[in-house]
Amino acid sequence: MPPSLWAATATTKKEYPRLQGVHLADVVIVGGGFTGLSAALHLAEAGTKALVLEAHEPGWGASGRNGGQVIPGLKYDPDELESHFGPEVVKTAGGGPDLVFSLIEKHAIDCHPVRKGWIQPAHDSKALGTVLGRAAQWAKRGVDMEVLEKDRLDQLMGTGFYVGGWIDKRGGGIQPLSYARGLAAAAAKAGAGIHGDSPVKALSRAPAGWIVETGDATITAQKVILATNGYTDHLWPGLAKTVVPIYSFQIATRPLGDNVRRSILPEGQVASDTRRLLWYYRLDHQGRLVMGGRGPFKETPGYDDAGSLKSAISRLYPQVAEDPLEFVWAGKVAMTQDHLPHLHVLADGLYAGLGFNGRGVAMGTVMGRMLALLAGGADPRDVPFPITAMKPMAFHRLHRPAVMAIAEYYKIRDALEARFGSKAA
Ligand SMILES: Cc1cc2nc3c(=O)[nH]c(=O)nc-3n(C[C@H](O)[C@H](O)[C@H](O)COP(=O)(O)OP(=O)(O)OC[C@H]3O[C@@H](n4cnc5c(N)ncnc54)[C@H](O)[C@@H]3O)c2cc1C
Repeated sequence: MPPSLWAATATTKKEYPRLQGVHLADVVIVGGGFTGLSAALHLAEAGTKALVLEAHEPGWGASGRNGGQVIPGLKYDPDELESHFGPEVVKTAGGGPDLVFSLIEKHAIDCHPVRKGWIQPAHDSKALGTVLGRAAQWAKRGVDMEVLEKDRLDQLMGTGFYVGGWIDKRGGGIQPLSYARGLAAAAAKAGAGIHGDSPVKALSRAPAGWIVETGDATITAQKVILATNGYTDHLWPGLAKTVVPIYSFQIATRPLGDNVRRSILPEGQVASDTRRLLWYYRLDHQGRLVMGGRGPFKETPGYDDAGSLKSAISRLYPQVAEDPLEFVWAGKVAMTQDHLPHLHVLADGLYAGLGFNGRGVAMGTVMGRMLALLAGGADPRDVPFPITAMKPMAFHRLHRPAVMAIAEYYKIRDALEARFGSKAA
């Protein structure tokens, strides 16, 4: 694992040795993050022989490096989602935290789950209008939520930076690498084969299904699931061009003293705000402030790259502005053009689920369950999410520079707004 807060504080890593030799499997799953591991667990529990092949170790990708915020829903508000895809899809997206927390409970996964809600604070009055509309749409569907007037919000956040917001009580926080390791252990216990250090290098059709090759192992499988998200390579032509991988970046302080700790998100919620380049933050289980946002396009950033997130900390929580940082790290988020995750049937017996747009803790777990349903033989009409055709982006190579340019532009607009109000930007 690249160094990070989560790598330093996770439950002990189990060894999942490289696969060698010739094997048969019902389903091979490429990628050992939340999506692949959830698929493996659900398949194994249904009695299907599933084999996870992970290039590094379970949780190595975004799953072991994210903010650990278990957030319900997708980037689209429920009314819009429902008008495009129907009520079942809204239920699926909103039900992600229930699945995550129930798996944690069922398999006794030791990952410091705290389910006190996800707060979305608004940085200006325009954003407040948007989040209140969102809150009303979820309230209409019976979701346990609360609109937060400024006074109550300030109290829950421990900062007066925002104008108001809402809390969705379905959400919460986890130690993400421990959750990934727990999913891997549960899947292995249920009968799935889990193999690290096993990069899949070739995939080809065979009369009986698919041939999956790692260099050290050849597996004949009836079905294959690709669960590689922001780390998707060229295993299946065109798939990598359906997402734009961008880096999200996090920093963490040392454990804070008790008094300071009680002044930041004192009731244990996690938060992500409404700025164009959003800040997402929380305390970890040992009382560190963990702050995330956009950073440099680097796999392993250094302390020198932490300037903009440190300034976020000093604006929100000046009481910790001078505290030294203990960790900086980053990982790849997979963005899609329509801001929705995609579920594909790429060929007969070949499935992919990817493109979580930074919302994959809950949705990746849900996607794994849906991929397991498909690979397990369910009628696609019974899978509660749209199955779409793969659409590689035209001029894909230009998307990342474009995203970077837009990010710079957003940074300037966020800064102008913070200084002079929303009209300035
Ligand atoms: C810094 C950061 C912060 C984030 N914060 C949040 C958050 O707070 N809340 C939230 O909901 N979401 C968050 N996300 C998004 C979330 O982490 C991801 O959406 C989710 O982890 C995706 O899971 P996954 O299993 O699909 O992909 P990943 O966890 O990225 O796993 C893909 C795996 O595929 C493997 N792989 C790729 N190619 C091959 C191959 N050929 N052979 C074998 N293995 C292969 C990789 O090694 C990798 O381990 C964040 C992401 C990042 C990077």
